Amino acid sequence: MSVQVARSIDAVLDHLSSVSEATLLAGGTDLMVEINFGRARPPDVVAIDRLDELKSLQRNGRVRMGALVTYTRMLDEDPGSLALREAARTVGSPQIRNAGTIGGNLGTCSPAGDTLPVLAALDATVVLRSRAGERRVRFIEFMTGPKRSVRRADELVTAAEWDEAGPAQTFMKVGTRNAMVIAVAGLALVVDRVRHRVGIGIGSCGPTILGAPDAERFATGMFDEAGWERPSWPSEAARTEFGRLVASAARPIDDVRGTAAYRRQVLSVMGARAIARVAELT
Ligand SMILES: Cc1cc2nc3c(=O)[nH]c(=O)nc-3n(C[C@H](O)[C@H](O)[C@H](O)COP(=O)(O)OP(=O)(O)OC[C@H]3O[C@@H](n4cnc5c(N)ncnc54)[C@H](O)[C@@H]3O)c2cc1C
Repeated sequence: MSVQVARSIDAVLDHLSSVSEATLLAGGTDLMVEINFGRARPPDVVAIDRLDELKSLQRNGRVRMGALVTYTRMLDEDPGSLALREAARTVGSPQIRNAGTIGGNLGTCSPAGDTLPVLAALDATVVLRSRAGERRVRFIEFMTGPKRSVRRADELVTAAEWDEAGPAQTFMKVGTRNAMVIAVAGLALVVDRVRHRVGIGIGSCGPTILGAPDAERFATGMFDEAGWERPSWPSEAARTEFGRLVASAARPIDDVRGTAAYRRQVLSVMGARAIARVAELT
């Protein structure tokens, strides 16, 4: 196995374009587990963790989060999304949060990746760079299956970008215990009170992160009626219906972590709680 420490983005892009089997190493919290358990033997590894350009976090109405921003930084600095902070708080342990990055979450692209439902709900964009130039892909078009994405082998994820959507947003996750757990189901809900937009991302309940267009339409109608700028308290019937519509968007399977029926039940409960929580946040 050859391991190289990259000193510049250009060096990484040159490497990716010339070596077909190159594997990027950021925090190593996914990749090293694969290697240590003998599930991966990458012949050519490029460590990108020293590239300062990928560590920047910029906010000016639009957020640009460099691929190497860690979960700890999402908690310590204001990442321009409350839901993303809530998601970061649920990730692993302090050690994992110190090393794991948003770029690595996107690189692995697991349906259980906790930042990913938030990126879907924010309608975030993934920024990819290769020798051929830069391209931007909406997150909902980025992920194509479990651990599969449209990222080409010669491309580096350099950042995720999204419009700041205000404080009415939340992330919820259910696992088999309270901490250090892979999500059995995850839900992100963003209500942008200025742009009059509702965004939903469902994790661990399908081959990709899923949206829930019917639930988005239902909530949009609710805020049209109650007024987007004001805090409101949805009726029990509205909360239940929203939860039902969220759950009906899921495509869950039975697996070691939970049954499909349990995942639907959990989503309907999380949906009802999430809409009540964000409706009060202004
Ligand atoms: C004990 C433990 C607990 C965990 N808990 C959680 C959890 O609660 N929630 C959760 O979502 N995840 C969890 N994880 C998984 C992991 O921490 C995250 O997926 C993390 O974001 C991976 O980031 P990394 O920088 O460590 O990625 P790495 O392991 O370095 O890389 C992961 C993959 O992404 C690729 N990659 C990395 N950076 C880039 C880039 N810039 N461009 C393109 N490809 C790239 C790599 O080649 C590799 O294929 C846990 C892992 C462990 C070991």
